[in-house]
Amino acid sequence: MDAKHATLVHWFRKGLRVHDNPALSQIFAAANVAPEKFHVRPIFILDPGILDWMQVGANRWRFLQQTLDDLDQQLRQLHSRLFVVRGKPVDVFPRIFKSWRVELLTFETDIEPYALKRDAAVQKLAKDAGIKVDTHCSHTIYNPELVIAKNLGKAPITYQKFLSVVEQLKTPKVLQLPEKLSKKALPPKDEVEQQDEAAYDCPTLQQLVKRPEDLGPNKFPGGETEGLRRMKESLRDELWVARFEKPNTAPNSLEPSTTVLSPYLKFGCLSARLFHQQLKEILKRQPKHSQPPVSLIGQIMWREFYYTVAAAEPNFDRMLGNVYCLQIPWQEQADHLEAWTHGRTGYPFIDAIMRQLRQEGWIHHLARHAVACFLTRGDLWISWEEGQRVFEQLLLDQDWALNAGNWMWLSASAFFHQYFRVYSPVAFGKKTDPQGHYIRKYVPELAKYPNGCIYEPWKATLADQRAYSCVLGVDYPHRIVKHELVHKENIKRMSAAYKVNREVRTGKEEDSPEADRSAAGKRKVAKSTGNAAKRKR
Ligand code: FAD
Repeated sequence: MDAKHATLVHWFRKGLRVHDNPALSQIFAAANVAPEKFHVRPIFILDPGILDWMQVGANRWRFLQQTLDDLDQQLRQLHSRLFVVRGKPVDVFPRIFKSWRVELLTFETDIEPYALKRDAAVQKLAKDAGIKVDTHCSHTIYNPELVIAKNLGKAPITYQKFLSVVEQLKTPKVLQLPEKLSKKALPPKDEVEQQDEAAYDCPTLQQLVKRPEDLGPNKFPGGETEGLRRMKESLRDELWVARFEKPNTAPNSLEPSTTVLSPYLKFGCLSARLFHQQLKEILKRQPKHSQPPVSLIGQIMWREFYYTVAAAEPNFDRMLGNVYCLQIPWQEQADHLEAWTHGRTGYPFIDAIMRQLRQEGWIHHLARHAVACFLTRGDLWISWEEGQRVFEQLLLDQDWALNAGNWMWLSASAFFHQYFRVYSPVAFGKKTDPQGHYIRKYVPELAKYPNGCIYEPWKATLADQRAYSCVLGVDYPHRIVKHELVHKENIKRMSAAYKVNREVRTGKEEDSPEADRSAAGKRKVAKSTGNAAKRKR
């Protein structure tokens, strides 16, 4: 490093984009004002150790690898590049602070406990080294801290309340691309690069994906370029946007019936603030449009809602010690969990969804509903934390706040309490795909079953099973539970658990375990149908 230049560093973590990136724009602007003074190094820190312990499946590693490659390309168009530094942040920073003569470090804020701890440690290192740190909130539209402050220091715990709070806040300005850097801002090679020119190059697929045999088709390639393209394509049909109602989209269409922007939003390849702004512009031109919670803006507001409630609870991803979460005596049953995880429950709709998830890394929201309800309060009575873990590994869009928040919702542990509304693993899928095309694709061993029993293969006689080339117990499993029986038992268990939770909360003992149901009074009788999907989001 020459003694004349100091370095401005932007640290990418989420927010893997150059558009609408205030922390990146800050250092580009500062460097362009005084190019003779500053070098710029946008960095991503890759800790090789996480490849072993992090719950990330092959498809998501590929998504990240493609995203980093694309980010490097975007930065090169702005006369910079991405420096991928290997190591742990607490080891990396002391070295680069000194070696690069860092003057300013910027990054996007995060709410996850792991990230908060990491960032506090880095902030301290920077302070000790006399380095200025500036942070910006740009992963969400609204800053969770400000929402909580506006709500008098408490996270709003219902979606409607959340909306009423954020209506009082300004939406931040969406930033364009930063101006191209002056060529003078490109740093010369440091001592590490002098030893190895490729030291800061993006990781290759081989370096990130330890089990290439787990890779599925690359349906949703990673990166900002693809995220922006996908957003543009999703928004092209303005009438579709205006009429969008989530409950009317299909969980089992062969091509996605929703935007599939979630992986891009998760990694911040696409700015949620930009997506929101574009939606609002469309709705101005389309005055007759759907509303939250079911509209597309409503969907993005679910994301905001979960980020806000999660920001206020470090134990958001577990049942114990989680202020929002009811305590429910889930049971362990390893064989059932294994069957669910690998799409071998004997319920073709459930199995098709779990297999699509494993192969492609994305499943529709209502498909997530179906399998989450099935695992927890609907059928298997297994903890939502187990399901969360499997999703954590397999989803491209896995997100600490959204995964936990939605699992709590589906298991009626928090935010949603109509536990008597149970999805039928048979009727639900039939509504939008009576011919079972989706099952035929993802559970091909059942492909020859006729429409009449593709959702319920146990209804076929043995002779018919043979004729359809798929005998239950041999080529495809017998169903592991009888939904028509277990879901009723589970509703009773939920009722009892709710009663205990109420008693703990109020300190008053209630009369009978049925109190909850009678209190619910004229509520619809517990019934498992495809109409559980008559939800409000
Ligand atoms: P669209 O319908 O096109 O919606 C646009 C965007 O809005 C999404 O990309 C997403 O960012 C946001 N959004 C939509 N629905 C929700 C929701 N219910 N909660 C929060 N944000 C929402 N989503 C994740 O991004 N990461 C997760 O880890 C995740 N885990 C989930 C686990 C369970 C059990 C369930 C039921 C849902 C989960 N979701 C998660 C929420 C939702 O299923 C996905 O965001 C959505 O299906 C993504 O598809 P899309 O981009 O086509 O959504």
